[in-house]
Amino acid sequence: MHKRGEYETGNKRILWKLILNFLLIGFFLGILFIYWFGIFNKTNFGSKGNSNFNPSNLTTRMQFYENMRYADSRISYKIEDCPLQKENDIKFAFEILENKTPLEFYSVDKNEEISVTCDSHVKLDGGLFIAGEGGPTNITKSGNFNLISKGKILLLRDSECKTPNIAIHELLHALGFEHSPNPRNIMYNISNCQQEIGEDTINLLNVLYSIPSRPDLVLENVSALVHGRYVDANLSIRNNGLINAKKSSVEFYVDDEYVKSFEVRELAPGYGISIELTNIQTSDLNINKLRFILNYPDEELDKKNNEIELKNID
Ligand SMILES: [Zn+2]
Repeated sequence: MHKRGEYETGNKRILWKLILNFLLIGFFLGILFIYWFGIFNKTNFGSKGNSNFNPSNLTTRMQFYENMRYADSRISYKIEDCPLQKENDIKFAFEILENKTPLEFYSVDKNEEISVTCDSHVKLDGGLFIAGEGGPTNITKSGNFNLISKGKILLLRDSECKTPNIAIHELLHALGFEHSPNPRNIMYNISNCQQEIGEDTINLLNVLYSIPSRPDLVLENVSALVHGRYVDANLSIRNNGLINAKKSSVEFYVDDEYVKSFEVRELAPGYGISIELTNIQTSDLNINKLRFILNYPDEELDKKNNEIELKNID
């Protein structure tokens, strides 16, 4: 039992000791406060799988490479080894992007495009906690696109925000987006709850995924040599589109007269074949014009690049 009077009349040293203890406790509570609310809200994002990307223009570029996208606006995913909260976080992140862009995410049991995994182990980078990792893991250059066929998301920390900021950040990495230098952007490398998805990010996703999911066969590198009634020709056919091109055929005309056609096998996006034709006989003794027409039975991104004409320049 202590009476109020005892402190006032007692040894002043006890009073000072009490004040010192009080200050010390306050100091430790303060440190703890900074630890929980300071450091924990600043979590660093790793970006595994991107270490070999060579940034060339950090100020205007948003993606690791130009025009990165998946083949279709419907992207498959599989979530593995995730506790309920993280599973909900990534599903909520899918939903948020679905509401703002043409993207749709659907769950599959195997051969998923985006693999989502979780780990409760703490990872550090430069004294900061890594919140997660994400990025494309398989990219093919196809025409103007850098086609992503596989992406990966690793969620390490739960999001403490109303919106699942960490999951959105890693999902955008998996969609090809780089870090933003703007601290208010969700792609900034240190997370906080006030960050938002950039308007430019949404715009780019809208532009990229408004392009239909089609192949685009192109005739390239055509050259020919005419000797008398015979023609030697070289040409290549490439699929610059977003999905596989079925079998197609190329027709060869000499001065508007059909000579022959040849079949072209299926081509995956980004792939092409070279064809060498030698000593094709024609009935024409004065050849002026050679024409190659690529016939594709289905829709393409562009049909205008399916024909090439060579004229005699003598
Ligand atoms: Zn990041």
